[in-house]
Amino acid sequence: MIKPAVAGGKPVRKRFLVFGKPKITKAEIIEVLKTIKSGWLGTGPKTKQFEEDFKKYIGAKHAIALNSCTAGLHLALDVLGIKDGDEVITTPLTFSSTANVIVHHHAIPVFADIDPLTWNIDPQQIEAKVTNKTRAIIPVHLHGRPCNMDAINKIARKYNLYIVEDAAHAAEAIYKNKKIGTISDFTAFSFYVTKNIMTGEGGMLTTANDKWAEEARIRSLHGISKDAWKRYSAEGFKPYETIYPGYKYNMMDLVASFGIHQLTNVNDNLKLRNNYWGMYESVFHNDPLLTTPALEEKNTVHARHLYALLLQIEKLKITRNQFIEALRQEGIGSGIHFTPLHLHKFYRETYGYKTGDFPNSEFVGERVISLPLSPALTKADVNDVIKAVLKLLSYFKK
Ligand SMILES: *Cc1c(COP(=O)(O)O)cnc(C)c1O
Repeated sequence: MIKPAVAGGKPVRKRFLVFGKPKITKAEIIEVLKTIKSGWLGTGPKTKQFEEDFKKYIGAKHAIALNSCTAGLHLALDVLGIKDGDEVITTPLTFSSTANVIVHHHAIPVFADIDPLTWNIDPQQIEAKVTNKTRAIIPVHLHGRPCNMDAINKIARKYNLYIVEDAAHAAEAIYKNKKIGTISDFTAFSFYVTKNIMTGEGGMLTTANDKWAEEARIRSLHGISKDAWKRYSAEGFKPYETIYPGYKYNMMDLVASFGIHQLTNVNDNLKLRNNYWGMYESVFHNDPLLTTPALEEKNTVHARHLYALLLQIEKLKITRNQFIEALRQEGIGSGIHFTPLHLHKFYRETYGYKTGDFPNSEFVGERVISLPLSPALTKADVNDVIKAVLKLLSYFKK
């Protein structure tokens, strides 16, 4: 139970500001309606177009459209042959699915703590966790900040490990002149409602390996032979057979209709979020009750997915969770990205992880709060958030 913490007085906002509200344009709505009227809602030409557009945007050799990023991560590990007893290293400071997909392959999720400054997985901690069972690393570009891929690549080469990047936050991110999505064996992107490019539910898997790409595509649609989605199209019936017990991971044209236009707006939306980020930074950066995100590393582009800061809870009368509740009372939605996975019930009970195992992740996990950063916001919305945060800080400071 979270004890209610209310700063009192008039709430900053009357109408609740939803966290992670998507920006949907007229063009998208028209496209979606067109797709509905066409009668072809499933995987088809729109999905193909979205894949081509995304491939071009990223500069990836292959892009496979899927129904989620989770599907992409799962599929990548599947194609790479991750199996019983293998170990896969990832960060505890991530969303459940990053580690769940490891478990789905009966492999063991091995966590490596984060760098206390960037909040991304610490390459030194990765190397310390490598054993002769380690097969792969899943770095997560947390909040949109690219991981230290040079150091991670070096470890992967040294120990002959695969890298599957979780780029759910990082569609626009660039690491040393290379777009995220062009660097590793596989990269998985998310188009979930709150993400930078959104299709409601959706994802994309990129790779430069022709064989893996074909394998991933086949396995994403039941493991039936190539171009199986055309089996009901005007091109005519083609016999097919199951060549692998695949998955139901394909994207629908209905949602690709959003994606095509979301991609057209990707740079404009990033610019907007960059501006909002700057508004937050200018007020919060020097606040002694807060720790704001570290400056991005040289030669990298931060995808600005989440503006997450740390509350210096030692200087406050309330916990982070109470702060979130108090913000809600002010009419502002916020988020936690993330509560470290090694503290979640399943991971504690199955692998014996416990408090104290990953102190850097726990430190962030206890203090982190994400403020609204959607391109659907107005400047006035962002100013409301700032006002509410300042109000709570001044009310609840010790
Ligand atoms: C959202 C998210 C995912 C999962 O994306 P879905 O498209 O919902 O499957 C995976 N990893 C991280 C870090 C995420 O934030």
